[in-house]
Amino acid sequence: MHKDSIISIDMGGTKVLGCVVNSKEGILARVKKPTDPNASRKKYVHQLAEVVYELIEKSHMNKKKIKAVCLGVPGTVNPETGIIGLAPNLGLKNFNIKKMLEGEISYRVLIENDVNLGALGVKNFGVGKKAKNMLAVFVGTGIGGGLIFDSKLYRGSNYVAGEIGHMLVEKNGPKCGCGRKGCFEAIASRTAIVNKIIKDIKSGKRSTLSKLVKNKERIRSKSLLNAVKKNDKVVRKRINEGCEVIGRVLGSITNLLNLDMIVLGGGMIEALDFYMLPLIKKSFNEHVMNDSAKGLKIVASKLGDDAAIFGGIALAEELFGVRV
Ligand SMILES: [Zn+2]
Repeated sequence: MHKDSIISIDMGGTKVLGCVVNSKEGILARVKKPTDPNASRKKYVHQLAEVVYELIEKSHMNKKKIKAVCLGVPGTVNPETGIIGLAPNLGLKNFNIKKMLEGEISYRVLIENDVNLGALGVKNFGVGKKAKNMLAVFVGTGIGGGLIFDSKLYRGSNYVAGEIGHMLVEKNGPKCGCGRKGCFEAIASRTAIVNKIIKDIKSGKRSTLSKLVKNKERIRSKSLLNAVKKNDKVVRKRINEGCEVIGRVLGSITNLLNLDMIVLGGGMIEALDFYMLPLIKKSFNEHVMNDSAKGLKIVASKLGDDAAIFGGIALAEELFGVRV
């Protein structure tokens, strides 16, 4: 017999990952499903409801053992009201998703920003267990951050704290998805680093990724890993530059916040932690004040996409008092 659980759903731009999970047994069932980004709100929510029912069936759980459904949203949310402020990749704006989904399923619904959930997962179920003041940074398509102060998630005054990706790093730097210029993620995300590599290759520099670029194929973290292993100079140079910036920003943040742990995750770090972490640490040490960094650890998250899934357990306890 399985223990009480929650259903945790990570809402991506083109697919959702849903899991039945509890703190004792871990993940009991998984469903990954593509979603139609052009679907109406009603249809989209209906797709989420289908994931919920599919998960219950797959896990062979008694329906009553599910205590809440938690949604991880790639955007701004108000966890108190259940309203999504803006989730650009999902085309959702000012939308009370909690209310609509609760109208379709017989469970209470919780929502939180996906990166905040990732930070909660790392803090409660991953490498951050012992951390008191922690920053989780996820480097991938963009750069997201989640802050834990005094072992609790810090949301800020309008629930949008942690937007590390939009810290201004370079005046008049490259354009960012947010409309401003020179943001951290416009310089050091995988997207930004890959764009620089593509430019280098197009300008005639030799790289092991030339063929991918010529064929206009997507350069994923794994391709970067292979290039680094083959000692590709173009790729290494651009990644090195990215690590220098990441280390500098993290040092600067540590001077402000005096953290005890920084956890790095996201697709790019997962693939390249052995290469990137030493470079990030080197740059970090050059830019941080000694006292601010005393005892601070910089570590890679080992949870991958499951960080946000596990974060749902902590959120359900915080907001509903549900312990699973
Ligand atoms: Zn920005």
